[in-house]
Amino acid sequence: MKTILIIEDERDLLDLIAFNLEREGYRVETAVDGTTGLEAARRTLPDLIILDLMLPGMLGTEICKILKKTEKTSRIPIIMLTAKGEEIDRVVGFEVGADDYVVKPFSNRELMLRIKAVLRRTEPDKERDKIITIGSLSIDTGAHTVTSDGEEILLTTTEYKLLLNLAERAGRVQNRDLLLKNVWGYNYIGDTRTVDTHITRLRTKLGASGDLIKTVRGFGYKMENS
Ligand code: CA
Repeated sequence: MKTILIIEDERDLLDLIAFNLEREGYRVETAVDGTTGLEAARRTLPDLIILDLMLPGMLGTEICKILKKTEKTSRIPIIMLTAKGEEIDRVVGFEVGADDYVVKPFSNRELMLRIKAVLRRTEPDKERDKIITIGSLSIDTGAHTVTSDGEEILLTTTEYKLLLNLAERAGRVQNRDLLLKNVWGYNYIGDTRTVDTHITRLRTKLGASGDLIKTVRGFGYKMENS
């Protein structure tokens, strides 16, 4: 049974989401402010976190940043809840490493679909354990670890999937739509700038190995062969 932590200060909404998740067979943990939410995430290590943006105590974006930077919690997928019209927060949500976002008000069906999609794409693929080495970059697909010049690089699940997609097809150009489909899922409703944002973050995190990811103007991205 998968555990989902909901961090939301609107009690009615929190209760409603919890009720719907339990009905779908998930185990639910809840927190109503930022500080206890962060504490609950560290203590329970849930399979997924639904994280409201505006929270008393600590903003959702801050919590997201902290969790994604900590090894123990960096792979927990996070869906951010943002209020309608907070256009800028969509971008911020991704810049801090959130795996997806849902805009309020949302239907139960929409939230459940997003949760299932995020859980599906962040599930480790145990059938293809191997080590891919490109230049100073090494990806261990069994351990889900990435090293650059021998230094381990901490990536979010989405960043890792994006890197793996590029590395497995090294030398070939991949367009943004294909990356969106392969990394974010068939039914992902988003635009291709999402891919660009994540590529930028990935390059920064990879340091010198980040140069291996080339932009192919007007088309997409390519990872060098060596
Ligand atoms: Ca709120």
